[in-house]
Amino acid sequence: MADKTSRVRVKSDGHALPAVDGQLVENEILLSLSAKERDLIFPQLTFMELRTHVVLHEPGELIKFGYFLNDGLASVLTVLTEGKSVEVGLTGRDGFVGLPLIVGFSTSPTRTVIQIEATGFRINAKNLVQVMRQSPGLVNRLQRYVQILGMQGTQVAACNRLHEVDERLARWLLMCQDRIGSNFVALTQEFLAHMLGTRRASVTVAAGILQKAGLITYQRGHVNIVDRPRLESAACECYEMMQQQHKKWRSEVDGHFIE
Ligand SMILES: [Zn+2]
Repeated sequence: MADKTSRVRVKSDGHALPAVDGQLVENEILLSLSAKERDLIFPQLTFMELRTHVVLHEPGELIKFGYFLNDGLASVLTVLTEGKSVEVGLTGRDGFVGLPLIVGFSTSPTRTVIQIEATGFRINAKNLVQVMRQSPGLVNRLQRYVQILGMQGTQVAACNRLHEVDERLARWLLMCQDRIGSNFVALTQEFLAHMLGTRRASVTVAAGILQKAGLITYQRGHVNIVDRPRLESAACECYEMMQQQHKKWRSEVDGHFIE
């Protein structure tokens, strides 16, 4: 197992990244760890390919695994009794799925589902708890991510109640692009409606508004962002507020990582 931790691969841009099972590690939390902490957690990770709509955990069910995504996107959804759901958070290579585990909880009130085909590293819940006991840097990064996802959730709650669907769609596409690093987003209208907590017909109208303004093209479940600066102007204030908060928190801890 030890060889899992020692490999490094060089990307096409000349940047060396660590690898597990021959797969580059691109998850930002894993990359932020010291070499010592990487040596603790990397042998516990299993590379996974995660297809769209795969559920990583259901509300109330035992969380057996945590996931550090490398690419793609997972949605955190609040699910109501009649089956309706609305998105309250987005996790990509910036984060971690399975946050209740870090404080000793073993269930979550939310569902987390893969929304854009992803790859990542899975860790058994028990192994994660063990690694955290010896890895203060990992605990610190995961705790920070709890705050970031919580901030997203509170902002999105206000957004879903107060802002127009086209502004929300623009906000959502920007958040999505930040996490997947691509202009091209594969999404069905039905899924988008879930994400935005609205009806399919409203999504069609909203996508039509953004397309007509030349900000995106939208065809058969594929969105292409063609004018990011203007999409930022078209989004509600929530996107900028979240960006600013993120930036502020980053500056507050700059150079103060626990090693
Ligand atoms: Zn908003």
